[in-house]
Amino acid sequence: MSSPRRLIVGNWKMNGVPADLAEIDRFLDRMGAGPWPVSVGFCPPFPLISACAARLRGTDVLTGGQDCHDKDSGAHTGCVSATLLAAIGAKIVIVGHSERRTDQGETDALVRAKALAASRAGLTPIICVGETLAQREAGEAEAVVRGQIRASTPNEGAGELVIAYEPVWAIGTGLTPSLGQIEEMHKAARAALVEAIGPTAAGTSILYGGSVKGDNAKEILAIAGVDGALVGGASLKGDSFAAIVQAQSRG
Ligand code: PEP
Repeated sequence: MSSPRRLIVGNWKMNGVPADLAEIDRFLDRMGAGPWPVSVGFCPPFPLISACAARLRGTDVLTGGQDCHDKDSGAHTGCVSATLLAAIGAKIVIVGHSERRTDQGETDALVRAKALAASRAGLTPIICVGETLAQREAGEAEAVVRGQIRASTPNEGAGELVIAYEPVWAIGTGLTPSLGQIEEMHKAARAALVEAIGPTAAGTSILYGGSVKGDNAKEILAIAGVDGALVGGASLKGDSFAAIVQAQSRG
């Protein structure tokens, strides 16, 4: 059984115009020649994906989408298929981000269908889960995350999967759980994943997301059971994203 690959992915959300792709060059400059001890990906908004992939050609850095439709094609105005993402150079796609679960009302069942669509297209889905502050305060964090993993993760028909544990209250707020809380939640997530997909779960990466920055990355990435990070705000600038990836590289 292969062990989970270490992975750090930048989620640009609805930020960036073509000129901001220069931040990717800046990132590559800051990182210097590989090999790096971690896979890295950028998920810019849809219209920047082709240009991002072109910029990263010849490197090991992955390009990804922030969402995909659960169908492969059809009458779904304004939506983007995993098939198209793959055709324009994406290798990974985020599904079920809490902002989509909240803003677009995405359910676990839809997230699972999107993860399957991603796999059909040859993409690796990054399935996001995480509790709200109210759920944590009610002592429900583990139960919520276990339930989301069981219901959002395809148990057959999927290729490589990645899970991102992202407490909703830590996203974009500058707040992070304690190191112990992150470790507990990753343990619970791994247990739920084993229940959901069986022994192959041992090879599935579980990333942490929520206010990861250059100054806390080293301690977060060193937590047992944390296989990498999903990074929002700090991935928008090449310098700050490189500081996070270098924190991993320094071990
Ligand atoms: C995210 O968008 O998934 C995220 C974790 O954002 P931030 O790093 O800004 O908290």
